[in-house]
Amino acid sequence: MTLIASKTETLETPPLLDEPPVPFLDLKAQYSGIREEILRSLQEVADSGTYILGPRVAAFEEAFAENLGAKHCVGVNSGTSALHLALITAGVEAGDEVITVPMTFVATSWAISYVGARPVFVDVDPVTYTMDASQVEAKITPKTKAILPVHLYGQPADLRPLLEIGCKHGIPVIEDAAQAHNATYGDHGAGSLGHCGCFSFYPGKNLGAYGEAGAIVTNDEKVADRLRALRDHAQGRRYYHNEVGFNYRMDAFQGAILGVKLKSLKAWTEARRRLAARYIEHLGGLPLGLPGEAVGRRSAWHLFVVLHPRRDALRRELETRGIQTGLHYPVPVHLQDAYRSLGHRIGDFPVSERVARECLSLPLFPEMTERQQERVIEAVHDAMRNLEVA
Ligand SMILES: *Cc1c(COP(=O)(O)O)cnc(C)c1O
Repeated sequence: MTLIASKTETLETPPLLDEPPVPFLDLKAQYSGIREEILRSLQEVADSGTYILGPRVAAFEEAFAENLGAKHCVGVNSGTSALHLALITAGVEAGDEVITVPMTFVATSWAISYVGARPVFVDVDPVTYTMDASQVEAKITPKTKAILPVHLYGQPADLRPLLEIGCKHGIPVIEDAAQAHNATYGDHGAGSLGHCGCFSFYPGKNLGAYGEAGAIVTNDEKVADRLRALRDHAQGRRYYHNEVGFNYRMDAFQGAILGVKLKSLKAWTEARRRLAARYIEHLGGLPLGLPGEAVGRRSAWHLFVVLHPRRDALRRELETRGIQTGLHYPVPVHLQDAYRSLGHRIGDFPVSERVARECLSLPLFPEMTERQQERVIEAVHDAMRNLEVA
């Protein structure tokens, strides 16, 4: 593979726009590989007459827990719902505080707001963009009821020091593992170490449903029992409700689809890891901030995010070369209008703000072809040369 083409080689390769754009994500490519099995499973659900929860959701829950090395898994209707219920089982109530990060998808903070608590932010570290554990203890007050790190872009946050701090102060750690299916921290599956681990199966996630879905994993049987009740109107016995519950149930079609797709997750994660390694190898010489894995952690490579001070210009250059990209996420949570009342300003969390300003997500999905990745790599080299000249 020639990556930095010389002038003559550039002329020999066909103009990029003769080929369709490289998509950021291609869910249809994945579907075409598992179509028969998916359709068969959907037909079984339709024939069964059980459309919510039921045996297929239960089978998926069991398989997902085992895959992760956790004792229990409770399927729900989204990652946001998973976070909400996890905070309730951690005992977080109105007026409490939850320590989390501003560099995440906003739903992490929504869940804190849903229970009436206040997100208290600490910055991310500049290498992994996950919660900087060294900043956490300074933010603990008598109102702190949970610590909620995010395994951003698929890389687990540094859980050991966070669990130690949580243990010392009696504060549960809840993992937002919505982007980290099959990531590992040491020998453990990401999501299996805290009080609860929360997953999303939004279609674009590493394990995606064909609709909305999520799950909570836990090793605590009492917590699992309460989660099962809470997701289903808090009825231990039908029509008897001992607390305020929710309709957060997973539907049977999603359970069936996830059961089929879980069998491929390992192979898909390996494909992501190979693609990420190739990006790192071939973009290494450029003045770009490249992602890396911390020692002892295996990223699930949900996203491959590079940093560049002229991110928007780089994005436009890639767009004209037929390369679709994404921004995850252009505004950190502490600067969102929805959280104006927290009173934060630009400069409060400099690392998160820099990531938000400079981040650019390159295409990465398990079905990405070698040719597609080669085109992205060539386009990035080419675009960077253009940026230098301009
Ligand atoms: C996707 C995501 C969520 C929310 O999951 P939904 O299933 O969309 O509700 C929460 N946190 C993070 C970090 C996410 O990426």
